[in-house]
Amino acid sequence: MSRVAISGMLMRSLLLLVAATPLFAQTRTMTNSTPAGPIVIRADRIIDGRGKVISGGAIVVTGDKITAVETAPKGVPTYDLEGMTLLPGLIDAHSHLSWYFNRQGRYHTRGDGDTPVESMLSMAGNAYATLMAGFTTIQSPGDPADKDLREWIAMGQIPGPRVLTSLAPFSSTRPSPDSLRALVRQRKAQGADVIKIFASASIRDGGAQTMSDEQLAALCGEAKAQGMRTMVHAHSIASIKASVAAGCDQIEHGVFADQETLKLMADHGVYFDPQVCLVFRNYLDNRAKFEGIGNYNEEGFAAMEKALPIAAAMYNKAIHTPGLKVIFGTDAVAGAHGRNAEELVCRVHDGGQSPMDAITSATSLTAESMHLGNEIGTIAPGMQADIIAVAGDPSKDITALRRVDFVMKGGTVYKNVR
Ligand SMILES: [Zn+2]
Repeated sequence: MSRVAISGMLMRSLLLLVAATPLFAQTRTMTNSTPAGPIVIRADRIIDGRGKVISGGAIVVTGDKITAVETAPKGVPTYDLEGMTLLPGLIDAHSHLSWYFNRQGRYHTRGDGDTPVESMLSMAGNAYATLMAGFTTIQSPGDPADKDLREWIAMGQIPGPRVLTSLAPFSSTRPSPDSLRALVRQRKAQGADVIKIFASASIRDGGAQTMSDEQLAALCGEAKAQGMRTMVHAHSIASIKASVAAGCDQIEHGVFADQETLKLMADHGVYFDPQVCLVFRNYLDNRAKFEGIGNYNEEGFAAMEKALPIAAAMYNKAIHTPGLKVIFGTDAVAGAHGRNAEELVCRVHDGGQSPMDAITSATSLTAESMHLGNEIGTIAPGMQADIIAVAGDPSKDITALRRVDFVMKGGTVYKNVR
């Protein structure tokens, strides 16, 4: 593991030689227990990620792909997961793997004395916890260090979910529109999968629009011209409307979105990634570890406390807005990695979503938002073999997603603890 962390410099120079991200690289070297021939996984039921249930079926995996879904399987399966449900590996469109608590039990910030090696080891730990919780793909918005993590996981050197990253996000309101366009091209050249933009202030600071309409148009317009997706942090109505008008692809958070704004997103086919509870509760539960750093102060925590019921009510409106594509992102920060499914639980319990819709959102719909709908997020022949199993039936009781006992990613079994 230490070699992974200390060779970041070497990797950075090596990466200049790599043209494409090996997001779907074979990782069978990760375990030596995986048989070489086709793997057959049988369970009580399969949820396909698109709302369909197959009772008593089996999934056949060859190499890193699903090659068949059998409705009446015969013979002895490789894995007989009785009492369990198979579903696609879960996908989190918004997870900050680089956020962690340092040895003093405080939220890690630059200048707290941690070395890059210590920070990278913490990231690797977060990636492992996320994968063990059944999340086989995450999108990070973002951190320059994500790049090495993404590559090391893809090479099968360390266990973790597939990582898509924006690298450093765009938050400064100083650059001119022309400079921002150049910076988007630079981020693409650096290897970003997506462009992340802050269009509004944090919820702890009120959430008002920060980027100008012209700056947003430059960022999202240039990204589109470069064939890149954009995800925009926006809380206030004005910042969401400006982002939609600028042609941005995806809105994050949107705590203060009203019905008109939700409809506007739906009309423009903009993906919406709101949060109901995990991010707020995680901050409140870990208050002592964040308090006193930046805007983690009295007012900041009060704002997050106040946001909880507002976010749940807004979420309920969002899922009932015809045509609005509500995807799954937790905004997992320090303390939340490995607990990503808690957001699914409260989307159902507090946000009023059906368990099946919540599952579809966190699998096929979020895959579609990443332009990976033909690769991941669905149990079907030809898809990547990203398969998890949970005890019980999550389409009846969403809390079953807390009990992930089996994790396969790209045909490799990373967890089987039943
Ligand atoms: Zn975030």
